[in-house]
Amino acid sequence: MSMNTHCTLPNVAKSAPSAAEDSAKDQAQDQAPALIDPFGRKITYVRVSVTDRCDFRCVYCMSEDMEFLPKRDLLSLEELNRLCGAFIARGTRKLRITGGEPLVRRNIMSLFRNLSRHLATGALEELTLTTNGSQLALYAQELADCGVRRVNVSLDTRDPEKFRAITKRGDLDQVLAGIDAAQKAGLSVKLNMVGLKGVNDDEIIPMMIWAHERGMDLTMIEVMPLGSVETERLDQYLPLDAVRARIAERFTLRDLADRTGGPARYVKIEETGGRLGFITPLSHNFCESCNRVRVTCTGTLYMCLGQEDAADLRAPLRNSPTDELLNAALDEAIGRKPKGHDFVIDRTHRDPAVPRHMSVTGG
Ligand code: SAM
Ligand code: SF4
Repeated sequence: MSMNTHCTLPNVAKSAPSAAEDSAKDQAQDQAPALIDPFGRKITYVRVSVTDRCDFRCVYCMSEDMEFLPKRDLLSLEELNRLCGAFIARGTRKLRITGGEPLVRRNIMSLFRNLSRHLATGALEELTLTTNGSQLALYAQELADCGVRRVNVSLDTRDPEKFRAITKRGDLDQVLAGIDAAQKAGLSVKLNMVGLKGVNDDEIIPMMIWAHERGMDLTMIEVMPLGSVETERLDQYLPLDAVRARIAERFTLRDLADRTGGPARYVKIEETGGRLGFITPLSHNFCESCNRVRVTCTGTLYMCLGQEDAADLRAPLRNSPTDELLNAALDEAIGRKPKGHDFVIDRTHRDPAVPRHMSVTGG
């Protein structure tokens, strides 16, 4: 299967020679049963990590001596396209492309161009991206042309020096230019900010005001114990309950029911008119409504971000040109989706809950 070379919705499916083949296969798979886990949760949201590499080394995400996967272990972009198609045929309505840093994977836009055909047919409701923003200025318009409507950009501080200290490599201006380009291209931008005790706690309210002035939502994330990093997790962990209480001293928070298919709980800030989300895996477990799974760039399926159990999808993908083996592997894996994670950070739990870093599974 070759990759499409251009993309402007809704002509994608008609313009490329391989698209007819893809589309026939998509239709043939339309009848495949939905993926439903043992707790009755329908899997409609898949996060695909397209690379474990990144141009940053955020202190809470990666260690300085990360070992990256050899290229031969990675699924090709064509394989990722096929894998995503198989999930969509089984009821996935929302795909989030993540990493590592997804926009540093070579030729990544060809995957977006190919996946956009599922938006054109209506099989897929949403194709989104989580990025550190460093390459966003280059790709924002093309992403919009491929039907991407929303992007999540990670931004933990607007102080250039602090930004460099947190990301170890990043240039704040480049990320801000990426955010500008995304908004100019008509993409709706949500900021993700990991709360870090003693590092950016004083910036949360200013970040929220800035984001809301620019029409962006802000989601705060609690640091999760994934993989070993140089800093003690307990030293980084900022419980968001306290943050919320602090914001409530100055602003009026109104709980919102909408969950955007994710684990964030949102409030509307009456004074700014903007939305603020909280992802609080530690202080409030969000597993009961989990509709998602994660696939790594090697085709390993994690049924839960916080558990080690996984299933290999690369072998069934590579061992047969049709999707029977893959579908059987999906059924088997989803049948093992656990009820939830067991994250704890306290003095008796200093080790990571799971040894893999967030950059492997995709955030
Ligand atoms: N590189 C992209 C980015 O930074 O947005 C995408 C991948 S990154 C792993 C996805 C999200 O996970 C980011 O918002 C990042 O801040 C968050 N993240 C990484 N490690 C984390 C951890 N240990 N706990 C909580 N959030 C984490
Ligand atoms: Fe890279 Fe994103 Fe992890 Fe930061 S959070 S090191 S940008 S993958």
